[in-house]
Amino acid sequence: MKIGAPKEIYEGEARVALTPASAKELQKLGHSCLVESGAGLGAGFSDALYAAAGVTVVADAAALWAEADVVVKVRQPLATETALLRPGQTLISFFNPAGNAEGLEAAKDAGATVIAMEMVPRISRAQKMDALSSMANLAGYRAVIEAANNFPRFFTGQVTAAGKVPPAKVLVVGAGVAGLAAIGAATSLGAIVYAFDVRPEVAEQIESMGAEFVFLDFADNQDGAETGGYAKPSSPEFAAKQLEKFRALAPDMDIVITTALIPNRPAPKLWTADMVAAMKPGSVVVDLAAERGGNCDLTVADQKIVTDNGVTIVGYTDFPSRMASQASSLYANNIRHMLADLTPGKDGVIVQNMEDDVIRSSTATHAGAITFPPPPLKVQ
Ligand code: NAD
Repeated sequence: MKIGAPKEIYEGEARVALTPASAKELQKLGHSCLVESGAGLGAGFSDALYAAAGVTVVADAAALWAEADVVVKVRQPLATETALLRPGQTLISFFNPAGNAEGLEAAKDAGATVIAMEMVPRISRAQKMDALSSMANLAGYRAVIEAANNFPRFFTGQVTAAGKVPPAKVLVVGAGVAGLAAIGAATSLGAIVYAFDVRPEVAEQIESMGAEFVFLDFADNQDGAETGGYAKPSSPEFAAKQLEKFRALAPDMDIVITTALIPNRPAPKLWTADMVAAMKPGSVVVDLAAERGGNCDLTVADQKIVTDNGVTIVGYTDFPSRMASQASSLYANNIRHMLADLTPGKDGVIVQNMEDDVIRSSTATHAGAITFPPPPLKVQ
């Protein structure tokens, strides 16, 4: 099959779904690869590098979509992109199927197969295709770098001839993949790190990374775990206790990194305007939940603002794209592992095996039908 990567057209998106290295792996599976001219430039991959890896460089998006049997992309396609889908073609991309009814209809009507990367089930076998995790890991790391870049002090404590420097105090709210990456980056810069999550089972992971788990004095415990490792909404009593705790911590925290999400819901509001008002000038809030409405009351998506009391609030939604080369390499690996499972004979023939849990769960449209949401996994 011909696997082709167009240039991402979502504004500011610098990642690309095919790299020269991933193309070489795809060729070993019997596929040939195409890339739209300039598609990799934002991530540091020139047309010449693709050509050297045996990839055919095509002039424009129309030619790419027309020629490729399988189109690989990063961002959920825009309507102008889904309009290019044709019968029998496969699209592998983030697709947001739960919030993209129009895209699903368009792909179904076009007779195309859509493999939605956010639907890869979180089972051990599928970890190598788990693009949500590979991108969340980058986002958590980058959140700390953005915080440090905006924080006018050291992260690490120092004793110097010119005076003693206290270590920065960092609070990470939500210790999933992004939160744990943020803890790792902040501790390695020398900060004192505290972390909170509604799922008590993460306490051990938090502590093993050198951070302190923030416990709540609450009768029902910190039990916010739902099946599959995700969080469920907190009870009003628990939420009130959590906010009370954060209110007490706010004046003492230099950096707050929020990553709290609950599947298919707006982000819970956890860092309120009065907490921001209680923070010291120069403090920084980085809100990784900005795309889903933000964990902080004052977050403005895609912007950095500075409050009247001198607190910087970063609401960027493009953290992985800010590390486009690394993000593209990891994402392209996720995609090529998906294609490896779709090419069991390593003969360039795609087999859409709907009996396979990973393929079935990820497939959002196929054979003229919408196949989202998928049935529960056969094997957990
Ligand atoms: P996520 O991005 O959906 O949410 C981020 C974190 O926010 C979660 O840890 C969640 O518990 C937390 N949260 C939600 N509401 C909160 C609140 N009110 N206060 C504080 N924290 C709150 O999560 P994720 O990073 O995608 O990870 C979710 C789970 O999936 C984790 O258990 C993770 O280990 C697991 N996981 C498993 C696999 C696998 O098995 N292949 C891969 C990735 C993640």
